[in-house]
Amino acid sequence: MTRTQHKPDLSINLQDPGRESTQLLPDDEVIIGLEIHCQLDTRTKLFCGCSTDYRDDGPNTHVCPICLGLPGSLPRINKKAIEFALRVAKALNCDVPEESEFARKNYFYPDLNKGYQITQYDKPLAVWGYLDIEGEDGEKRVRITRIHLEEDPGRLVHKGGTDRPKYSLVDYNRSGIPLIEIVTEPDLRSPKEARRFLNKLRATLEYLDVFDSEKEGSLRVDANISIQPRGWFDRERKGKEGRGRTEIKNISSYKGAEKALSFEITRQKNLIRRGHIIETATRHFVEGQGVTTASRSKEQEQDYRYFPEPDLRPLRVCSWLSDVVLPELPDARRARFMDMYGCSPNHARTLTGDPRLADFYESVAREDPVLAATWVADTLLGELNYRDMGIGTVSPEQFIDLIRLVRTGEITDKSGIEVLRIVLDQVKEKGCSEAPSACVRRLSMSKSGGTDIALAVREVLDAHPQAVADFHGGRAEAFNFLIGQVMKKTRGRLDPADLNRTLREELCRQER
Ligand SMILES: [Zn+2]
Repeated sequence: MTRTQHKPDLSINLQDPGRESTQLLPDDEVIIGLEIHCQLDTRTKLFCGCSTDYRDDGPNTHVCPICLGLPGSLPRINKKAIEFALRVAKALNCDVPEESEFARKNYFYPDLNKGYQITQYDKPLAVWGYLDIEGEDGEKRVRITRIHLEEDPGRLVHKGGTDRPKYSLVDYNRSGIPLIEIVTEPDLRSPKEARRFLNKLRATLEYLDVFDSEKEGSLRVDANISIQPRGWFDRERKGKEGRGRTEIKNISSYKGAEKALSFEITRQKNLIRRGHIIETATRHFVEGQGVTTASRSKEQEQDYRYFPEPDLRPLRVCSWLSDVVLPELPDARRARFMDMYGCSPNHARTLTGDPRLADFYESVAREDPVLAATWVADTLLGELNYRDMGIGTVSPEQFIDLIRLVRTGEITDKSGIEVLRIVLDQVKEKGCSEAPSACVRRLSMSKSGGTDIALAVREVLDAHPQAVADFHGGRAEAFNFLIGQVMKKTRGRLDPADLNRTLREELCRQER
């Protein structure tokens, strides 16, 4: 980008004169607002009866005249989608106005077959709510500006890479999937807070049973970000131009949001430091590279020529709100976990961050709730993450078996981790695994009946300091000597691969 493109914007300088817009101050603060699009997990689309379960099927197999936007077809609203959206509105403490209205947002793009998207504009379904999160300095309330319903457009598949595709295909299976767009006030002050907000929102939507985060593309985020002198935002309020802001479009993951925002903060700070004016602009996040790039799209609000959707009557659903019964939400469940199971605040927060995980914990908590919390939150999650496995792949019965082995002292914690790793590797490879107690017997890991490998290794290392020193000094044969000593000590009852690994781990640990 050349220097001449950053022409100073006179109107900005007139409104906000002096150093504020051109110098980076030590106490400048980051202002972030989010727009989150979530697919509602209904069985059928928003305006027709086509199934939403399209991900494993061929392109353009879940379509009809309505979601293809053929002339003469008329949309009919999906009642379930409204009920789901109202559930979200209530959980996020929103007001639901007497009447809301669908509008047409007109723009041209190949994935938008009608030439307009049915959305809500000046009369959204719900307004003015909030969600409390764990902020940088304690609990923090993030205000929700609005929640509205809209239809998802189709999907473009670029053949030959997104940069320079040879050609593009259009798949309308996604066209008409119900979305809610949740817009926050610019209340977030760091990428970390933004990630926490998204995590809490995801958990809340999953508790409400209206959203499935494991479905690809089910959540997309646009983020508004600017850097302003501290207190500027509270003084000037929304709508005032300070330094320009960037809208980062189409971030498709929680981690992506934090990365995109961190990159953008650095980019904007560098520009301000060099005396450039930040222009208000749209940028795209390139997930693979972790950077944002300038976007050519320059649509303004007025370019969309919104007008009320003539084929749909206004929605009058605020009276439905009293029938919405909310389930136990993350905060309440967290409090209950601390109260009922004696979980630490951190464990309770981790365990209730995902309803599937919370359910799993409750199904294994009976043996020893506190020990189970530690093993699920501190050990199991890490091991699952490492293997890219979900909590659904773990059998509660087998996990209880493992907890029992550790609790009764049958095996050490370290052996417990080893057993867990072996069992998870088996599940990953074959889809099933042996029981932890069977694994302990097979590998003679039991402290009473068999041999604790780690203990035997440590004893041998303590007894042969010279060999250990030789090993660290680079003499490979010292390793074989130590293996032989452990084998002799345990009368060869150990699995050589396990022994090999444990010995290496112990030696590495000593080196550190
Ligand atoms: Zn359809």
